[in-house]
Amino acid sequence: MKNLLEAHAVSKNFGDFTALNNVSISVPKGSVFGLLGPNGAGKTTLIRVINQITMPDSGHVILDGEPLQSHHVQNIGYLPEERGLYKSMKVGEQALYLAQLKGLSKAEAKIRLKYWFERLEIGDWWNKKIQELSKGMAQKIQFVVTVLHEPKLLIFDEPFSGFDPINANLIKDEILRLKENGATVIFSTHRMESVEELCDHIALIHQSNKILDGKLTDIKRQYKTNTYEVGINAPDKITLAETISKKFNASLTDFRSLNDELKLNIKLAENESANDLLSYLTSIGQVSHFVELIPSANDIFIQAVKNN
Ligand code: ADP
Ligand code: MG
Repeated sequence: MKNLLEAHAVSKNFGDFTALNNVSISVPKGSVFGLLGPNGAGKTTLIRVINQITMPDSGHVILDGEPLQSHHVQNIGYLPEERGLYKSMKVGEQALYLAQLKGLSKAEAKIRLKYWFERLEIGDWWNKKIQELSKGMAQKIQFVVTVLHEPKLLIFDEPFSGFDPINANLIKDEILRLKENGATVIFSTHRMESVEELCDHIALIHQSNKILDGKLTDIKRQYKTNTYEVGINAPDKITLAETISKKFNASLTDFRSLNDELKLNIKLAENESANDLLSYLTSIGQVSHFVELIPSANDIFIQAVKNN
């Protein structure tokens, strides 16, 4: 797949502090790319370089095959981390103004805004003042203004911060829909747990360095440990646990269930398969639970930091 955006060996120093150290990313066309890492990792700095707000000290960015130039700003919808709206303006007035700055005619902007305001259930706010809005509400408006002119690249810096879980989900769904409609999306987050289902590709940023990147499914395959979470029952659970432990690498675990069963994590060796394990378990007890443990982005991050 062709890349819509590539950052090559981007470095940025602030005084003697290195905020980005030789960071490269490739963002395939039509993908959702997650820039993940804790606060202060360098995510916003990279996003600001891509948006030509910050000049890198070295390295360069390619957008759709061309070195990044000022006119490319028109092809990018950017939701910055620090979000500000003019407090005393009315919501609709302000959204129209911002949409026109992006090159839409007033009439076209109005049509599109009405559509998006309905979609995000904020239609009632058109005539309210910005200062009357909660943080989450103002953020929805900025999200709309970011995507309204349908740029081919969307960059959201911490799009979920400030949202309650319901609205965070709504924005997640909208991001997926934008992707389905052909946009390429880069977003940053320091909360790794909530966004895995969104990302096709990720880059993990840690202390100004990229420590891991690639297709999320490939990374998960690479980091999985062949461990299965198992629930099994038999009249004598202690004997059952001992029997299993003699054959497999098992440890006690806990998970929510309705049964009072023996709960184990079982890590398979190279030469053992899930089928081997399952047929053994069914021969000695009642299996009520059998799930492969897939590492979360957070597990992978912790492991990748250790490996570094
Ligand atoms: P993230 O978005 O991953 O939380 P940032 O890119 O905002 O991280 O910041 C990375 C580091 O660079 C932080 O330690 C931050 O304090 C520093 N930094 C960012 N911008 C500036 C600046 N303009 N001047 C000095 N230091 C900065
Ligand atoms: Mg940031």
